[in-house]
Amino acid sequence: MKKKTAAVLLTAACLLAGCSSAGSQKAETSQPAAGQTEAGTEGTEAAQEELEGSLISAEPKEFTIFLNFNNMPFDSSWQVWQEIAKRTNISLKGTISLTNSNEEEAFNLMLSSGQLADIIGYVDTTEMEKLGQDGGLIPLNDLIDQYAPHIKQAMEDDPRFLQAATSLDGNIYYIPKNQELLSAEYWWIRKDWLDKLGLEIPTTVDELHDVLYAFRTQDPNGNGLQDEIPLFDRAGWKMPEEYLYLWDTSTTFYPRDGKMTFEPLEENFKDGVRGMIQWYAEGIIDPEIFTRGASGRDTLLSGNLGGCTHDWVSAGNYNTSLAESIPGFEMVPFAPPADQHGVVKERVSRYPGAGWGISSQCEDPVTVIKFMDYFFTEEGDELINWGIEGDTYTKDADGTKHFTDKVLQSELTPIGYLRSIGAQYRIGMCQDGDYEKATMTDIGREASELYDSHPEWFGEDMPPYADGELELKYTAEVTTEYQNLMASIQPYVEEKFQSWVLGVADFEAEYDEFVEELKARGIDRALEINQEAYETYLNNSKMSTSK
Ligand code: CA
Repeated sequence: MKKKTAAVLLTAACLLAGCSSAGSQKAETSQPAAGQTEAGTEGTEAAQEELEGSLISAEPKEFTIFLNFNNMPFDSSWQVWQEIAKRTNISLKGTISLTNSNEEEAFNLMLSSGQLADIIGYVDTTEMEKLGQDGGLIPLNDLIDQYAPHIKQAMEDDPRFLQAATSLDGNIYYIPKNQELLSAEYWWIRKDWLDKLGLEIPTTVDELHDVLYAFRTQDPNGNGLQDEIPLFDRAGWKMPEEYLYLWDTSTTFYPRDGKMTFEPLEENFKDGVRGMIQWYAEGIIDPEIFTRGASGRDTLLSGNLGGCTHDWVSAGNYNTSLAESIPGFEMVPFAPPADQHGVVKERVSRYPGAGWGISSQCEDPVTVIKFMDYFFTEEGDELINWGIEGDTYTKDADGTKHFTDKVLQSELTPIGYLRSIGAQYRIGMCQDGDYEKATMTDIGREASELYDSHPEWFGEDMPPYADGELELKYTAEVTTEYQNLMASIQPYVEEKFQSWVLGVADFEAEYDEFVEELKARGIDRALEINQEAYETYLNNSKMSTSK
C-alpha cells in the first residue's frame, strides 16, 4: 500500500462532488446494453457483422489515454500502435507530455484538473481501485461479460488474473497486465566449483549447507585463501527473507490451509533463525548480507568469490561475460532445495500487475472495451508482445516465433528495443512466456523451463507478494489501522532478526520477550485484518457482474 498524497485525497472528494455525469454513467453500465448503446454505438452494433478483419469500428475513432510506463508517456507514433490503429480503426492519443517522466505528478495533476482521459493506466493499483470506487473509473464487469469474450475467457482460465482485477467491492475497475510465466527467480550455483570438489547439486537444505560449507573451507577458486562467499545476493533487505524460505518461513505473513499466520510466531521461524545464525557464524552467508547493494552480484561473481545465489535469469549471463577472465566459470540453475520438512517450494513468484481502465468521462466505453479485448486475441497479443511480424519477429510453419536481429542485436537490450516501438507496454494484456524465453540465453531458458514445468512448487491459493511483502487489498476502514500496526511491528521484527543473525543479540534468550512485544504492538489485530483480506482474495476467484 502506498501512502495517499494530499492531492489525491482532495481530488477524490472533487470527483465525488462534481461528477454527477460520472454517477449516471456508472449506473448505466450496470444495466446491460441500456442507455449506453443508444448513446452512439447502435450504428456500430448494427454494422459490426460487416466489419472486416480486426476492425473494431467502421469509422476511425480516437480516444485519449493517460499512461506513463517506465518514464515513457504513451506515444501514438510508436510503430506498434500505428499498426494497431491500422488494423482496428482505433487510435489513442496520449495526454501526458512526452517530456514529462514523473508519473505520480502527472496522475495527481490529471485528478485535480477534473479532466480524465478516456483510458487510464497507473502504476499503483491501490490508487486505480480508489479512483474506481470514487467514480472516476467505471466498473467493467458487465462490459467484459457482453463485449470482451477474450478477456472473460482469460479471467475464467486464470484465478490470479481475476483476483488481481477484482476490487474489494466486487467490481473490476481495470484490466491488469497478466504474466504467463509463474517463475521469477531461481537458485543458481557454481557448477565448476561443485565439479572441482567432487560434489553433486544439493537437493535439500542440509545438502545445501554441506555444499556451501565445502565452498567455504575447500578453496574452490584455487587461490589458497579461504575467501569464498558461498551464499550471497544483491537484493538487499529481502534476501535474508529468501534464505528463511529454506526453512519454510519468513519474517512476515503467510497462509497455511486458508489461515493467515505471522511466521515469527511459528515454530518454523525458530528453525530458520537458528539455521541462519549457524550458517552466518560458519561463513556460509555473505558477512555483508544486510548491507551488500545491487552491485553485489557483479562484485562477487567477477571476483570469483560468490558460489550460490537466488536471482533472475540474468544470473546465467555471467557464463558468457566471465568466460575469458574466469576459465571454466559455469553457473547453473537448480531446483529449490527441499526444506527441513522435505518439501520443495518456490515462494518467489510473479503476479498480475497494473493495467488500464475506462474513465467515467469516456463517451463510448463499449468501443473501448472491445479495443481492450483485442489485446487478448491472438493478433493483438502478438503485436503487443512481439511487435511487427516480418520486422521484429518471424514465425515458423508450426507457429514458433523468433525475434529478428533487429531486436536481438539492437544497441538497446531486446526488451529495450521492443519498448521503444511501443511493444511490451504496461496495458491490460498477457505477457507471453515465449516472448521472454526468446530473449533469454540458453542457460536462462533452462532455468525458466525447469521452474515453470513445476507449478506445484509455487503452491496454491498464494496471495500476491511484492519483494517478499504481502500485498492484499484492504478496505478503507482498516487501511490506516493496518499501516499503523505494521509501521510499529515490521521494523521491530527486522531489527531483532538482524541482531540475532549477526550474533549481536541472543535469539534463545530473547525469543519469548520478542513474542510478548509483538502482542503488545498489536500483531493479533494485524493478523485478523489479513485473515479477512485473504478470505476476500480467495472469494474473488469467481466472475461476478457489477455490484
Ligand atoms: Ca579461495
